[in-house]
Amino acid sequence: MALREIVTDPFPILKETTRPVTEFDDNLKKLVADMVETMYAAPGVGLAANQINIPLQVAVIDIAPKEQKGDPVVLINPKIIKGEGEEVDEEGCLSVTDYTAKVKRFSKIWVEAQNLEGQPLNFEAEGFFARVIQHELDHLNGKIFVDRLSTLKRTMYKKRRKKLQRQLDEADS
Ligand code: ZN
Repeated sequence: MALREIVTDPFPILKETTRPVTEFDDNLKKLVADMVETMYAAPGVGLAANQINIPLQVAVIDIAPKEQKGDPVVLINPKIIKGEGEEVDEEGCLSVTDYTAKVKRFSKIWVEAQNLEGQPLNFEAEGFFARVIQHELDHLNGKIFVDRLSTLKRTMYKKRRKKLQRQLDEADS
């Protein structure tokens, strides 16, 4: 296993739609192992493959409290086939530096995906777990949570991001 670098907004792959996985081989197992290790080290509750610069439909999630972690949910080629209700809550992202915002999500979802062996998974999710799945699926579709905010909030976020970037550039020079 190896730690991978997590890319941050505005890195272009975060805006790209990822490709379905077709080979359920050792390379996929290695990718997932690296993603799980990288997610735990960050630390985060979820990670999508394009966040480590791999354009494939793979996401890993573990919302368990710290001392109970170690049994991650692995979703290959996931889709939300139905969503119901709505909930607004604070979200952040490993690919969005120093920024959180309230985001509206379905409170309950029905998910179709495959596991590491390529077998079909079908399940329902609610509450925080449903929120994290929706956040990771957004990544796989080229979206970050900021894209779900109002135009005003997005503009403020972009200004802030530019300012942060200028400070980094100045620190470098
Ligand atoms: Zn994220």
